[in-house]
Amino acid sequence: QCQRDKKFDIALLSVQWAPGVCTKPDNDNKFKPCKVKYEDEFTIHGMWPNYFDNSYPSNCCFEQFLNKGNLDSIINQLKKYWKSLYDNDSWGFWIHEWKKHGTCAKFSALKGQFNYFNTTLNLFKQMPIGDWLATAGIKPSNTGIALESVREAIRKGFNGRPQLACSGSTSGLPILTEIRFCFDPETLTHLDCPAETNSCRSKTGKVTIIPA
Ligand code: 5GP
Ligand code: 5GP
Repeated sequence: QCQRDKKFDIALLSVQWAPGVCTKPDNDNKFKPCKVKYEDEFTIHGMWPNYFDNSYPSNCCFEQFLNKGNLDSIINQLKKYWKSLYDNDSWGFWIHEWKKHGTCAKFSALKGQFNYFNTTLNLFKQMPIGDWLATAGIKPSNTGIALESVREAIRKGFNGRPQLACSGSTSGLPILTEIRFCFDPETLTHLDCPAETNSCRSKTGKVTIIPA
């Protein structure tokens, strides 16, 4: 069974900070270790159809079977910018993302398998996230940095409010794992994301952007 697809409000690009994703939180027994080599880098996690209230459709009925041949011409870029951190072979990750999210993007500029992956790659390549942080004087470090200064640096660079996601740490500082960006699903112009339930909030108001 699958969910009927319909129009959605936001195309939400989820970008992962590899060292954060691959650092075991103190209190997480569900942690999946990373199997690939990574650096201080942001890579794509997914492109997700979303509603303004943070709910989202998933597993829709459009072309559920991912035809690998459709991605032949962009396979090297996918391996570079949309790699699985958990597996050496990223196909399982792409198939999952397509089935869960891509199938729900029919009513948008992201319609179709090649287009969904290729458009996402192209949007991501135009986003020098590391430079946006550097411009604000923010670099990866084990020392805490104010959550709102990270958000503001990204907001300025992207020209739209991002969502930030962290993994918990009992030692106090949440570890940044993802930054999420919002686009208009039809024009792909940059939007402010709705406020998220913030996993990055802590008493000190600080997070770490952990280095590799
Ligand atoms: P997590 O709990 O790690 O934030 O999310 C688990 C999975 O749920 C994500 O990988 C994604 O597939 C889905 N998900 C989480 N948050 C959102 C969201 O805001 N929008 C959409 N479309 N999917 C989400
Ligand atoms: P989501 O959280 O998007 O629903 O699901 C992500 C799925 O893809 C999970 O089953 C996860 O194990 C798998 N996966 C494979 N590689 C990666 C990766 O690099 N990052 C994330 N977040 N999930 C990955």
